[in-house]
Amino acid sequence: MREHANTCESLGAQVTLVRRPRELAQVEALVLPGGESSMIDKLSRAFDLQKPIQAAIAAGLPVYGTCAGLILLADRICDGIEGQQTFGGLDVTVRRNAFGSQIDSFESDLHAPDLGEEPVRAVFIRAPIVAEVGPAARSLATLPGGEVVAVEQGNLLGTSFHPELIGETRFHARLMDKARARRG
Ligand code: GLN
Repeated sequence: MREHANTCESLGAQVTLVRRPRELAQVEALVLPGGESSMIDKLSRAFDLQKPIQAAIAAGLPVYGTCAGLILLADRICDGIEGQQTFGGLDVTVRRNAFGSQIDSFESDLHAPDLGEEPVRAVFIRAPIVAEVGPAARSLATLPGGEVVAVEQGNLLGTSFHPELIGETRFHARLMDKARARRG
């Protein structure tokens, strides 16, 4: 959370934490952080944030989800817990904990031509992968083995990994570009 805020502030954004619908109504872009997607899902429903977030996504609010945040943006998930829901919006199927319990975390360089010359170094922590990219979404980055780990669709951006932990700012900058474009 703090790392996302730092990254956004380093790019000139003013950061506010969204815990209530009235706070959501004030932001021009939203980051859904990592954590435990089933817990974030439950809390978002308990705090009456699920429907407002879904409405904001449908209305075009730029949203960037990392790791658990990517799971929450997926239209379809596999290996969710019983009853787990998502906000949806990304036409993808995301598999939770896709690298197994043996590999808790790892780093890798990604193939991400849309992000420019500089290679994307990625940190994965109990990470999901994008098992299927539907026709409305597009892959932004893959592991050397070809697994899709970053996707984009209109106002939405999702990564399996955590750029905020290693000073990689291009994904957050992309989110802000979307906010700027929307503001007009
Ligand atoms: N494994 C977590 C989940 O399923 C995601 C881990 C993370 O966000 N770093 O929600």
